[in-house]
Amino acid sequence: MSEEPRAVHEIVREARRAKRMTQSDLARAVQCTQSAVSMFESGRRDALARPTVLAIAQVLGLDAEALPLEARRIGPGVALVLKRCPLDSCPRNVPQVIEGRLVYRPTLVEAPLDDQTICGECDEILESSCPNPDCGARLAPGSFCRVCGTPLVTVTHTPSGNLQAWADARRARIRELRAMTRPERYGFILNEETET
Ligand SMILES: [Zn+2]
Ligand SMILES: [Zn+2]
Repeated sequence: MSEEPRAVHEIVREARRAKRMTQSDLARAVQCTQSAVSMFESGRRDALARPTVLAIAQVLGLDAEALPLEARRIGPGVALVLKRCPLDSCPRNVPQVIEGRLVYRPTLVEAPLDDQTICGECDEILESSCPNPDCGARLAPGSFCRVCGTPLVTVTHTPSGNLQAWADARRARIRELRAMTRPERYGFILNEETET
């Protein structure tokens, strides 16, 4: 007897309920709205962007690669993962000041796990996991690893003076750069949020 494969929204709903999380709990964990979770779980797949679905899988402890997502197939057996540029100087990493501390939110791109993916902005080789060697979790949108809390971008240079003013000026500069950049240079950009 072949069982009907379950849809991703059903798997997510069951996993969330099994974890005793409300839709609001889940929405908070991945920084989206409860109504978006609600629409997604009722079968409206377009209610959530793919990186958010991947983040939900991580929060719920689901194996994202085993989920029946309509993955962009670029070849048989090619696993796509989210990658980040590791350089704090790269405009793909957007600075913000959180509780007096400088952190960067990386712009994640989706790329084949096994390929070397070059940053379209700075030519560095992209990383596909948390920078904490004891963790190594897959990436999800945000500034910190959702598993161990390590900042996803290592701060190598802390500017002197007013940190907030520096971060604001840097974000304005990044917005300018992005307005000038040809979108194709970015490849698959997934999370374009530049603000907190
Ligand atoms: Zn870069
Ligand atoms: Zn981690």
